[in-house]
Amino acid sequence: MSLQLIEPVAAGYFVARSHDLRYALGMDGLLTLEEAQERVLERARPLSVEAVPILAAGGRVTAEDVLGRVDLPPFASSAMDGFAVRAADLPATLRIVGESAAGRPYEGSLEVGGAVAISTGAVVPGGADSVIPVEYVVNTENSVEVEQTVQSGAHVRPRGGDAAAGDVVVQAGTRLTPALLAAAAASGVAEVRCTRRPRVAVLATGSELVAAGEDLAPGQIYETNTLMLAGALEAAGAEVRSEPPAPDEEASLRAALERALEADVLVTSGGVSVGEHDLVREAERELGVEEIFWRVSIKPGKPVSFGVRGETLVFGLPGNPVSALVGSELFVKPALRALQGLTDPLPRFEPGRLATALRRNEERDEFVRARSRVDGDALVLEPLVGQESHMIVRSGAADALVHVSRGNGELAAGSTVRWLRVGSA
Ligand code: AMP
Ligand code: MG
Repeated sequence: MSLQLIEPVAAGYFVARSHDLRYALGMDGLLTLEEAQERVLERARPLSVEAVPILAAGGRVTAEDVLGRVDLPPFASSAMDGFAVRAADLPATLRIVGESAAGRPYEGSLEVGGAVAISTGAVVPGGADSVIPVEYVVNTENSVEVEQTVQSGAHVRPRGGDAAAGDVVVQAGTRLTPALLAAAAASGVAEVRCTRRPRVAVLATGSELVAAGEDLAPGQIYETNTLMLAGALEAAGAEVRSEPPAPDEEASLRAALERALEADVLVTSGGVSVGEHDLVREAERELGVEEIFWRVSIKPGKPVSFGVRGETLVFGLPGNPVSALVGSELFVKPALRALQGLTDPLPRFEPGRLATALRRNEERDEFVRARSRVDGDALVLEPLVGQESHMIVRSGAADALVHVSRGNGELAAGSTVRWLRVGSA
């Protein structure tokens, strides 16, 4: 797609018309990050829905509200080990008439002047309205002496006090954490309707790439992007198929792309820049991929491309490992979240404090690798030395991407910035 510049509308900005779309472009004439993300999310609609057994639903995203099937707790139960009593009887010495243990209720109703020994989680028998903790009584084998009064309802968890049958226990569009799985299971849910996991093909391209364990011939480097992207995208809920890397050679590249285009999402690395051996976009075009954008005003990762073929989303990440990683965070993961039906798919930036000054880039938004540390109440970000996009060893030590927005001058040490956590669980 070629963008035709129309008119400057404000200092540093232009409006371009391409078909009937209007793009706000950065000073370098490229799509801004926000515009590019919007283009991606417009095309990342939730996938189909399937029933998933609760035992296999961890990490999946709910497609519909999950409704509880039972009241929770399902019966009035004791919050303490002690004695179930009638509040109106107290203070008194009560006759112990039986026991209600967890899973083994007292069968009968509590009469005036009686008490039932009860354990935490056991059914509060009919007739009883309160529980006296064992610490507050003097008891013999047959009787229990209670010196104080209690309020009716003390230490009793009412039936349905957490949730009633039919209540929404997990909302639609939520990733099922262990605690949410527990909530659904406690409410009697055995199966959850979830959005299908996106199937992602990861394909590294480049004739210089060699697998780990091989010896390097002159000019070769070890291939890193497949395992890096596969790990990052699996963590975002994808089912990843790692394709064998393809060389910068038309026929084999096209064959590899054709196979990989069967996925819901194709993520390539390398071959999308302006070099003579950057063949990915052209090969994709020949295979029917409609390019939505190419090049975004960010650093690193500028030459990123995005297109669609039918329902398949096609991301071309640059080959430098750091660029590929940043591109996966800013574009691919948001798309995966949207495909899974998450309601808030964009990266979740948090505020933090910059430890050292950073110069801003006039044209492009920069994503600076940093380490985060807690200092009192503040979260402090230490930019790493060595910010070039091929420096994966230095970047590997980072747990934060600091967003340095485009503009003049520098961000002073101590200023508040937005940052994205990367690489952690
Ligand atoms: P490209 O985007 O193809 O121009 O590649 C940019 C740089 O990244 C080059 O130095 C490549 O050798 C390197 N590179 C490309 N793909 C990979 C990969 N899968 N693993 C490691 N480095 C790569
Ligand atoms: Mg290349």
